[in-house]
Amino acid sequence: MFESLTQRLSGTIERLRGRGRLTESNITEATREVRIALLEADVALPVVQALIQRIKVRAVGQEVLKSLTPGQALIRIVRDELTAVMGAQASDLNLNVPAPAVILMAGLQGAGKTTTVAKLARHLKERRKKKVMVVSADVYRPAAIEQLKTLAQQVGVLFFASDASQQPEAIVRAAIEDARKSYVDVLIVDTAGRTSIDAAMMAEIKALHAAANPAETLFVVDSMTGQDAATTAKHFSEALPLTGVVLTKTDGDARGGAALSVRYITGKPIKFIGTGEKTDGLDVFHPDRVASRILDMGDVLSLVEQVEQQVDRDKAQKLAEKVAKGRKFDLNDMRDQLEQMQNMGGLAGLMDKLPGVGQIPDHVKAQVTGKEVPRMVAIINSMTKKERRNPALLNGSRRARIARGAGMAPADVNKLMKQYQQMEKMMAKMGRGGMKGLMRGMQG
Ligand code: GDP
Repeated sequence: MFESLTQRLSGTIERLRGRGRLTESNITEATREVRIALLEADVALPVVQALIQRIKVRAVGQEVLKSLTPGQALIRIVRDELTAVMGAQASDLNLNVPAPAVILMAGLQGAGKTTTVAKLARHLKERRKKKVMVVSADVYRPAAIEQLKTLAQQVGVLFFASDASQQPEAIVRAAIEDARKSYVDVLIVDTAGRTSIDAAMMAEIKALHAAANPAETLFVVDSMTGQDAATTAKHFSEALPLTGVVLTKTDGDARGGAALSVRYITGKPIKFIGTGEKTDGLDVFHPDRVASRILDMGDVLSLVEQVEQQVDRDKAQKLAEKVAKGRKFDLNDMRDQLEQMQNMGGLAGLMDKLPGVGQIPDHVKAQVTGKEVPRMVAIINSMTKKERRNPALLNGSRRARIARGAGMAPADVNKLMKQYQQMEKMMAKMGRGGMKGLMRGMQG
């Protein structure tokens, strides 16, 4: 999700990150870019306006201009406001009612309702340890009832059989009765969808709502429809007391307009997002994490904390200066880096916190994580000082000698040199903004 929005914003952010001072005029320019990025992501206009207004007020205030790290400060404001507009906190399901707690699922045809019923059933069963039953009140499409039955078997939850000759309310009453007798914790009710919200659909779902007295009424909506998702959910919520929204197909949605608009437009929280066709593709919606992801920030704040505690600041600072001046990253620098990674308990957990990591290919990440690090350090240690400073010296016979010295094969040395070259390239690229910004964050 959000790839295109992230891409659009990352240029703006990179420019700000490297900047020592911000002025009112470049804040204005940056907020204009943020505004365009949001509109292109199909975020609803009132949401864009509210966001930009709040970002501007905070940014032009003391918060940014007086900050030691104005670029970082502005990015933090954008992130805070994105988080706030999506509802700040993750919203949990309210299942604190006498069992069975009923969850009524509504949505347009094709939104992914039935799939989501199965995903939610699995989520409640596996993560919340609930005894779950599902039932379909879609009497117009016998195939939908069959689809739910198959899915229920797949995820291993109870299925209450219904058929097309019954009234939807009668089905739900019978299912509740059965669920109570079977000591079911949660009963999820799938309902009929329509191609658009019309009077007949609303009348039926209202009657169902009255019969089921649900603890949760969730509206399932396709995130690929962008801001329309928010408008549809709003129409629906005007007729029924909606308790939350589930956004589906976020795996196919590069823009993210729905995620950013739903809360503001409907006043209802997004509780889950669907991420694929399989039954494990459901995630609790965390506004703060999503906002960080949009900005491709990783978890910068906790990274900074971790780095502050464990990194040798002088070395880090020297490297940052060196890279920023465009001087060559050599094998001594690589060893320093590797040793610091070791100090931090391996890079695996750290990598994801680094900003811009989205752009580093997985195979590169894999090479610098885990057990490899001590081996890499050993290889560098068996080089001469001169070789470390000038990696170009490392011809075949030198590499063979180094391998012997480290007790490894020449192929290991070659591999390390490849990794060095990749890091060197990355460092050269980071010279402008990334590293410097990171260091500045550490001091601020
Ligand atoms: P319903 O008519 O609302 O019940 O929709 P269905 O549950 O039958 O889903 C319609 C189509 O969307 C199916 O092909 C699903 O596999 C697909 N689908 C549902 N949720 C997701 C999702 O989160 N991601 C992707 N990629 N496909 C989904």
